[in-house]
Amino acid sequence: MPTEPRTVPGPVDDGPALTVHGITKKYGQLTALSEVDLDIAPGEIVGLLGHNGAGKTTLMSLVAGLLRPDTGYIRVLGRDPVREPHETRRRIGLAPQELGLYQPLTVRQNLLFFAELAGLRGRAADRRIEEVAEPLGLTQLLGRRASVLSGGQQRRVHTAMALVHRPPLLLLDEPTAGVDVQTREQLLATVRTMAAEGTAICYSTHYLPEVETLDGSVAVLNGGRLVARGTLKELVRQYGDSGVELSFSGGPPDLSLPWPAVRDGRVLRVTVEQPHLAVPQVMAALGDAAGELVNLRLVQPSLDSVFLRVTGRRYDAAAEEDTT
Ligand code: ATP
Repeated sequence: MPTEPRTVPGPVDDGPALTVHGITKKYGQLTALSEVDLDIAPGEIVGLLGHNGAGKTTLMSLVAGLLRPDTGYIRVLGRDPVREPHETRRRIGLAPQELGLYQPLTVRQNLLFFAELAGLRGRAADRRIEEVAEPLGLTQLLGRRASVLSGGQQRRVHTAMALVHRPPLLLLDEPTAGVDVQTREQLLATVRTMAAEGTAICYSTHYLPEVETLDGSVAVLNGGRLVARGTLKELVRQYGDSGVELSFSGGPPDLSLPWPAVRDGRVLRVTVEQPHLAVPQVMAALGDAAGELVNLRLVQPSLDSVFLRVTGRRYDAAAEEDTT
């Protein structure tokens, strides 16, 4: 029997879909989140980034009302997950890291279970199941038992289960962990479509190129603190190191340039926002030392360098190491 309210929440008003304000969460002595603020607008995709143990899952669990914050508050379209857990849950689609499929049931039965929880019945439920199955490549798998699906197929069903009630806020915790390229593309395309339809999406991942593909905004957690928040462009402008890197056969010369330059062995790094425009001036400043130049490289700003700057470690290190 459905235990959740039967209607799916309607379109959102002007305010943010999600407001997280001053959230602190401790597990005993360990502070998992500290004074975190985060807003997500309707239709916005936020890539939630951070090393293992940074607090991403804890934040999603708090938003979904699975944990209670020690301080601060959360609102999901104005609803408080602590005081109004059912009202809040209706507005959220949550796909946690651990797969939550009922293994003896078919894909269709798994999806139907969630459709019914949202109050959908009969033809309306069937239609919605077809709608979420198609973009995720599940149409041919609807009659199969969950237990016989591959890991990537299960991951897609798991995501579809979070979408079936058309939630205005979607929380996806590493939805592409361990999936192949095709599944990843299907998941990313589905996320983009949902956002274009007005769904606010919080998407945690260790794969920075995905965030670039989604062209969303970014929130970086480091040791439980939100250390960067903005659109990709804003963060790359603020933190992404860009410049011209010159390698010489001997020690680099002193150059008279309007930009900061540092020596590292035989390499001179000139930090400048638009490196391609700076090249003529750098070359002119070289004068006779141009004969010693063995290589010139343009360093373009990237999310990778943003992540390194704000957390002190590269993102691929974050994916591989476990600091928890
Ligand atoms: P990952 O990228 O590995 O999934 P994460 O950013 O999601 O990590 P969390 O799972 O939120 O990080 O964990 C944040 C911190 O809280 C970690 O130090 C973790 O060990 C700790 N932690 C998480 N859940 C619990 C718990 N139930 N009891 C005690 N400590 C916990």
